[in-house]
Amino acid sequence: MITLKEALKLKNEEIEDFKKDLLKKIDEKKELNAYIDVKDYGKGIPIAIKDNIQVDGWEITCASKILKGYIAPYNATVINKILNAGLSPFGRTNMDEFAMGSSTESSCYGKTINPKDFTRVPGGSSGGSAAVVAAGIAIAALGSDTGGSIRQPAAFCGCVGMKPTYGRVSRYGLAAYGSSLDQIGPITQNVEDAAILYDIISGYDEKDSTSANIEYKKVSTNLNPDRKLKIGVVPNYIKDASNSIQKAYEKAIEALKKEGHEIVEVNLMDAKYDIAAYYITAMAEASTNLSRYDGVRYGYRAEAKNLKEMYSKTRSEGFGEEVKRRILLGTFVLSSGYYDAYYIKAQKVRHLIKDEYKKVFEDVDLILSPVAPDIAFKFGSKKTPLEMYLSDVYTIGVNLAGLPAISLPVDESEGLPVGLQLIGKHFDEQTVFDGALSLERALK
Ligand code: GLN
Repeated sequence: MITLKEALKLKNEEIEDFKKDLLKKIDEKKELNAYIDVKDYGKGIPIAIKDNIQVDGWEITCASKILKGYIAPYNATVINKILNAGLSPFGRTNMDEFAMGSSTESSCYGKTINPKDFTRVPGGSSGGSAAVVAAGIAIAALGSDTGGSIRQPAAFCGCVGMKPTYGRVSRYGLAAYGSSLDQIGPITQNVEDAAILYDIISGYDEKDSTSANIEYKKVSTNLNPDRKLKIGVVPNYIKDASNSIQKAYEKAIEALKKEGHEIVEVNLMDAKYDIAAYYITAMAEASTNLSRYDGVRYGYRAEAKNLKEMYSKTRSEGFGEEVKRRILLGTFVLSSGYYDAYYIKAQKVRHLIKDEYKKVFEDVDLILSPVAPDIAFKFGSKKTPLEMYLSDVYTIGVNLAGLPAISLPVDESEGLPVGLQLIGKHFDEQTVFDGALSLERALK
């Protein structure tokens, strides 16, 4: 598959030919179930779009029955931005329902298959976006990351996935899951393409009240893999990861040393606190965000005798099991009797996590961390919701603290890719990309 950088040099007729060819390839790989729908928005380099980002005139369902038939009435800001840059939406990709999950098994369209091993999950929730890039049926894709949903599927499928600083990319037109955590970001074939796509979608947007109104400097034209950086490694973090992850971690450290970076050991609070704080926060926000799906304003509406019955039947029939679980738990932690004990406490822990990263970043430029405790797992292997939540242990701290991070393939194990992530300071995406480019180069 050609890279985004190469595609940007194509002439219009060449892009049209490329798309025809791409359609054939997509058809050949239908069994992956990675695209929900293949549609061409118009002239431009085709980019795959996760099904929770609005494209004017296209159905947007967040892989949920409750939104079936809902047509987006406007473009998300990121869509307008890619159109302005000569790119265009080409197909909607599969995902966990409302981006809640780590395996793309909870979609109302059925699971997506990992192109590297058909018995394993592609990761989630942006599993479709990662699978299409890894399978060579998309040049690049957009995903969203609330607690790892760009970085973890990228790691499981063997591509590059980047989560920008909170506030860097507009959330306008992204179906909200956990509004204080959500960010849209690129999934690509390599680090440079990630920087290019990141540049295209970033910047202040007055339509998003949490968008950061600060100066934006392009990163892709300033990439410098020769910078010597101070990179923190976290021994107390990786001791619980699988052997394949630990091996990849050692390999990455050696490669970074060879590139001339300084490696120092840092200590981060036990990541089990991240899990608790994240799931309380994300579920609380999800329960309020998803209250809008009432059968009146969007998509699916159940037959009923009166309004109250219509609300409850629509929601009972429209939402899947995991989404319902989160609405219930989220409502519980926000209820007056438990608000202080759970929600407020989670916010306090979130603050501690943020402060801790801040302290570590006084001394280092980047932190090297696993993305997941293991390589892509088998379908159905996570037996309980808690087991699934625990697999997010390495990614969610970054969202709680609002930091930028990039996941890239570092090693292979059992024929599957092993990805690791580099985490950076707020709004210091330049260093994140420089470090990642240097690591990518060293591993070639
Ligand atoms: N797996 C996490 C969750 O289920 C993260 C999902 C995401 O980033 N959208 O909440």
